[in-house]
Amino acid sequence: MKHLTLLGATGSVGSQTLEVIRQHPNAFKVIALTAHQNVTLLHAQCIEFKPEYAVVGTQEQAMCLQTQLRTVGIMTQVLFGPLGLEQVVSLSKVDTVMAAIVGAAGLLPLFAAIRAKKQILLANKEALIMAGTLVVEEAKRAHVEVLPVDSEHNAIFQCIDNDKWVLGEKPNDLSKVILTASGGAFRDRPQAQLAQVTPEEACCHPNWSMGKKISVDSATLMNKGFEVIEAAILFGLDAKTKLTLFLHPQSLVHSFVEYIDGSVLAQLAQPDMRIPIAYALGWPGRLANPAPKLNLNQMAKLEFSPIDFQRYPCLNLAYQALRCGGTAATILNAANEVAVTAFLAGKIKFTEIAYFNQQVFQKIQPQSAESIHVILEADRLARNITQALILKSYGLVSDTAMI
Ligand code: NAD
Ligand code: MG
Repeated sequence: MKHLTLLGATGSVGSQTLEVIRQHPNAFKVIALTAHQNVTLLHAQCIEFKPEYAVVGTQEQAMCLQTQLRTVGIMTQVLFGPLGLEQVVSLSKVDTVMAAIVGAAGLLPLFAAIRAKKQILLANKEALIMAGTLVVEEAKRAHVEVLPVDSEHNAIFQCIDNDKWVLGEKPNDLSKVILTASGGAFRDRPQAQLAQVTPEEACCHPNWSMGKKISVDSATLMNKGFEVIEAAILFGLDAKTKLTLFLHPQSLVHSFVEYIDGSVLAQLAQPDMRIPIAYALGWPGRLANPAPKLNLNQMAKLEFSPIDFQRYPCLNLAYQALRCGGTAATILNAANEVAVTAFLAGKIKFTEIAYFNQQVFQKIQPQSAESIHVILEADRLARNITQALILKSYGLVSDTAMI
């Protein structure tokens, strides 16, 4: 039986993880569940899964949830904040941590889980974008398995011989990886109309049901750019020679892996995160899960076409960040998190996400990403500058508030 801490339990990946676990009550024991704001859903999850610990954002929320749970006889101990997260990933009885917090907030709990030598099921791609080299080094030092949950990377993982794969290193017989991209919510929208699109439209992904931030990132293709970086880090791939992208509107082929003998393996499945989640949870075995099966009639309609890089400035920025190295991707991730939050709040236009990302990326000189301290400082600086630029562009502050 696996003993699990689920970071980000109330999110899209978190809830789907619990759906898979629900189907295998004898294979998994949920030790801890965490959430940030959605205490109502966490309350319901605690009643169903009876974890020993839960974590919420604030002390007030923690006291309130703890009281509510006691009144229905649930003895879950409720902690709060970053220290609470670090505590529940480090518990001695936990062997596996599902990292499904969205954004930079997941980085420190991820590090704490690696240092505590837990097996990591990694959905939180922003942590890897921010600090990929450090995450890989730390995981190698601690002899920790990091299993990719992101569907494309999980597909690559399914297509390579796991015995031969070392985290961060390209298997010798692998010649190339092809990642697929759906094109997001605005794939077929004329570029001239993109300045007018709403957050609701951006979050309405044609194939996947996901959290808001990753849905917007899918629409700008920043998500695909981050996935290129993620694949480069996890599988030791040179993005220029060993990684190719193809537009694949159906989202049924999640990645291709080409070998030196010319064989190409692909993983196909319905676009449903419960499949990669189940693979990571059950690895090295496979788990039945509630996702629908592929209908082979769907094979007749598979389409692939090259991506028009001109159309997706965020994708280009991600490639630039990968080429620059150091804290460049940390800076881009931070700018993007602030810009996407502003877009979702109705404060900037969709097209301005790329604009502000570019501005911030040009303003800050990347440093060598030698420590978590350097990463967090780059993240803080990029957030402050992005916020200041957004406010300034709307005439709300002066230049002097820029740093
Ligand atoms: P979501 O917004 O639906 O859920 C995010 C979770 O993180 C929630 O439980 C929330 O409470 C928690 N959280 C948010 N801010 C927090 C903070 N400051 N401190 C602690 N917890 C916090 O997001 P999601 O779509 O489930 O995505 C989660 C991660 O998985 C992201 O990194 C995303 O890129 C990645 N991912 C998601 C999908 C998907 O299909 N949703 C697919 C691949 C990868
Ligand atoms: Mg993905």
